[in-house]
Amino acid sequence: MRQRVAVVGGGLAGITAALRCADAGHEVTLLESRGLLGGLTHSFTRDGLHVDNGQHVFLRCCTAYLGFLRRLGVTDRVHLQPRLEIPVHSPRLRRPVWLRRNPLPAPLHLADSVLRYTPLGLGDRMRFAGAALALKSVDPAAPSSDRRTFGEWLKAHGQSRDAITKLWDLVGIATLNAPAEQASLGLAATVFQVGLLTDAGAADIGWATVPLRKLHGEPALARLTEAGATVRLNTKVTGLSRADGAWRVEAGEPVEADQVVLAVPPPVAAKLLPEGAVPLPPDFADALGSSPIVNAHVVFDRPVTGQAFFAVVDSPLQWVFDRTASAGLARGQYLAISLSAATEEIELPVRVLRDRLLPALRAVLPAAREAEVLDFFVTRERHATFAPAPGSAGLRPPARTRAPGLVLAGAWTATGWPATMEGAVRSGEAAAQAVLGTSAEVPGRSEGIPA
Ligand SMILES: Cc1cc2nc3c(=O)[nH]c(=O)nc-3n(C[C@H](O)[C@H](O)[C@H](O)COP(=O)(O)OP(=O)(O)OC[C@H]3O[C@@H](n4cnc5c(N)ncnc54)[C@H](O)[C@@H]3O)c2cc1C
Repeated sequence: MRQRVAVVGGGLAGITAALRCADAGHEVTLLESRGLLGGLTHSFTRDGLHVDNGQHVFLRCCTAYLGFLRRLGVTDRVHLQPRLEIPVHSPRLRRPVWLRRNPLPAPLHLADSVLRYTPLGLGDRMRFAGAALALKSVDPAAPSSDRRTFGEWLKAHGQSRDAITKLWDLVGIATLNAPAEQASLGLAATVFQVGLLTDAGAADIGWATVPLRKLHGEPALARLTEAGATVRLNTKVTGLSRADGAWRVEAGEPVEADQVVLAVPPPVAAKLLPEGAVPLPPDFADALGSSPIVNAHVVFDRPVTGQAFFAVVDSPLQWVFDRTASAGLARGQYLAISLSAATEEIELPVRVLRDRLLPALRAVLPAAREAEVLDFFVTRERHATFAPAPGSAGLRPPARTRAPGLVLAGAWTATGWPATMEGAVRSGEAAAQAVLGTSAEVPGRSEGIPA
């Protein structure tokens, strides 16, 4: 039977759920408070430069997200490395060291790279394998894994402070948005098991070659409209109520629906959810908390690096991406410095960030020492992700609520993943599955993605 489905929130979770339900023939209305779709993945224009709110990457193991890109028809707008290759710079090294996978199966695919990883002493390099193998047998879903920090577990498995900050956190901070000492062991185990310890190709890195709104928001609006869905932008939902077996969604002109997918951030969900709809304390959104991401954007008058991206250790820099072509810059080079878990940086003035980050960039890129900085600006996302701390698993509800016809979606819901694009899409799939009462398939391959 054709049902009226209202989806509240047009981030990746809401878009996924809306598309699935529209594809299944339901009458879908998507309500989004902002003037564009895409949620936390958006971009804007500054003096002709197309700027993302923050650099986003995905991995080959993000199969639901790759399926989402296919459904949007935008797989030609991303690049996926044929083989994992990360140049790692340090101001202490004259040249970058490379973390590269070899042709061996996981986890041996990284063994030689780690043994040659000179930012660490030989002892630390040798001790890495033991901890990596032990991490493979941690149960990510066990309550005990959600009670412990990843940092404490790493220490217990012979990992030094150096090994944690220069190797484990290199991957962990970027994927979890928290350092090991603040991250739940369960979430960290998911990331490392899926990304690095099971399938050799899983951690090949992908990124957009266009601004994010051209990858997600704009194509999503087009695909939803083609699929017959109604998209109402600039429409803030202020209340939800149920009468005569249907939902009334308060959104300027109210929407009547048989089923509602609530795909909004935790504080908004906490306000809109009817009392008792989820088995969580009333302050669950505060308890879950959030973690910020800061991006510093630097435009040089000339090219300063030939690398598409690189990581940096022994430095306030973390990951740096060349956004020149995707931003539409014709001359010079535009680099985005992505700072995850940026609790300290989020409050710093631009001037302080500039004084801290530019010398650090010049310390690892000799060509940048001569280059003139034409522009330097900062984007800040205070609530980029939920805080993946111990205890967070118990604060993430599943898609189905206790209220009939009301389901939840969002990267913060119980996907088992940290707050990522993959998690958001998976949550949208789970929400659609709950609405449709069927098993929505998560696509399982990365074919069709240009490498
Ligand atoms: C700077 C930054 C960098 C990141 N980097 C990565 C990365 O490299 N890789 C990765 O996988 N993930 C990354 N993430 C995380 C990823 O972007 C998110 O996990 C994902 O986009 C969340 O999608 P969502 O649909 O769950 O939530 P959201 O994107 O938050 O969507 C919720 C939507 O609900 C709307 N809304 C809110 N209130 C209302 C209301 N009352 N009525 C109607 N609509 C409402 C909002 O406007 C928003 O559009 C990053 C995030 C940030 C901010």
